[in-house]
Order: sequence, then structure tokens, then C-alpha cells
Amino acid sequence: MSAAPDDTGDNAVATDATTAVDPHLVRQIGDNLESVRRSIAKAAAAAERSPETVTLVAVGKVQPLERVEAALLAGQRVFGENRVQEAKGKWPDFRVRYPGVELHLIGPLQTNKVREAVELFDVIQTVDRPKLARELAKEMEKQGKRLDCYIQVNTGEEEQKAGIAPDEADAFIAECRDGLGLAVVGLMCIPPVEDNPALHFAMLREIAKRNGIANLSMGMSGDYDTAVELGATHVRVGTAIFGARDYG
Ligand SMILES: *Cc1c(COP(=O)(O)O)cnc(C)c1O
Repeated sequence: MSAAPDDTGDNAVATDATTAVDPHLVRQIGDNLESVRRSIAKAAAAAERSPETVTLVAVGKVQPLERVEAALLAGQRVFGENRVQEAKGKWPDFRVRYPGVELHLIGPLQTNKVREAVELFDVIQTVDRPKLARELAKEMEKQGKRLDCYIQVNTGEEEQKAGIAPDEADAFIAECRDGLGLAVVGLMCIPPVEDNPALHFAMLREIAKRNGIANLSMGMSGDYDTAVELGATHVRVGTAIFGARDYG
């Protein structure tokens, strides 16, 4: 693969009509997207759901810009990013050149990045604490926006992981929705790596059901089919589309 990480500066996105993306890469990423969509359709069918009820959120974090652009050229439009700073470096340009992009924040959000996050993203999937919820509500009002929000639930009650504890979820959802007026359209979770994810997906679905929440963002490359069988409306898939991330 010819994707050179240091070849991904501003000039990589400054060209307009023409693109420097290797057609082989576009085909390869396109094939990967196709294969993930097929698996989603299969899992949906097994659960007697229509595949259109599942949105594939492509997670391009840390990937060379060229791979993300290849996904755009292959027709993908819904993406997830887990860092505001990284998203800021690529999406304003991509949005101009590829209309119809829908960008989801799927990583922890610090309150000092709320303004930028509300400017950059269409959906915030990681509303995980009262202070952040208040800042988001305030900033959205200021910017005249009402972004779709998901409450992140720490289903594994892991110390180091973001998210509201399961037994505080109902009260937090009510506070966000009724108290702050946030558009709480979904719940999101990241199960502990060592657990059977199905238990966590089922728990998230239960919390959503009793709170009348429609969307469930759950499932990653390793377990999105399980998530779809358990009701995921949004799966967040990185590696299976873009290949392994190079953190070196
Ligand atoms: C990176 C990331 C993903 C994608 O993970 P893969 O295993 O590469 O599919 C999904 N969700 C979140 C919150 C992530 O940070």
C-alpha cells in the first residue's frame, strides 16, 4: 500500500476536482466497506431486521488521510472520530469536497473543546457526565445548533473508562433531555475487552428501551455482527475497513 503517513498534510486536501488517491486503494477500501455491509445485512437478517436500520460509522482515526479519502471516494459518508484535534485537521476540507458527510464524535470530550466539537461534528456520541452535558447545551444554544446526542454508558463499570454508570443512567438521561433540552437520540457503549460483549449490548438495549431511546451505538470491528443481532442502529468500524492503525 502506498499510503505514506507523512504525505497527509494540508496540500493533500487542497486540490479540488482532482484527487491523488491511488485507485487501487479506493477499490480495496470499497471492497472492505462492501464486505462489512454484507456482514451487517446478514446479522440484520438473522435478527429479522432490515439492513437499512443499521448505519455504518467508519472510524478513520489515526489512519493516513488517503485511506479516509478513499472511503469517501467509495461513497461512504458517515464517519466517526475520537479526537477533536484530529478531526479538525481533516474534516473541514473533506466536507467541502465531499458533500453529505455526517461526522460523529465517538471519543471523550473535554469541556474546553466543547466549542470546537459543536462547530465540527453533527453528532456527539459521548455525553458522559453532567458538566459536559451542561456545557454542550450552553454551547449549542450559543451556536444556534441542536446536535443529536448519545449518552455513553459505562456498562462494564470500569474505573478508567468514560461513561455514566448503569444505575445512574436513567436520571442522567432525564437531566439531559428534560433539564437541558439536549436531543438525546441514542446510547453508546464500549464493552470491556475481556468480557462477552453481548451482555453489554443487551444491557444498553434495556436501558434504551425503558427510557424510550431509539438509537444504539454499539459494536466495533470484532463484534459488530453481535451488536446488530442485539439491536445496534449504529456500528463503529475502523480496522475492518481501513486496516490496522499505525500508532508508531
Ligand atoms: C477506534 C474506535 C472504534 C473502532 O474500532 P475498530 O476495532 O478499529 O473497529 C470504535 N469505537 C470507538 C469509540 C473507537 O475509539
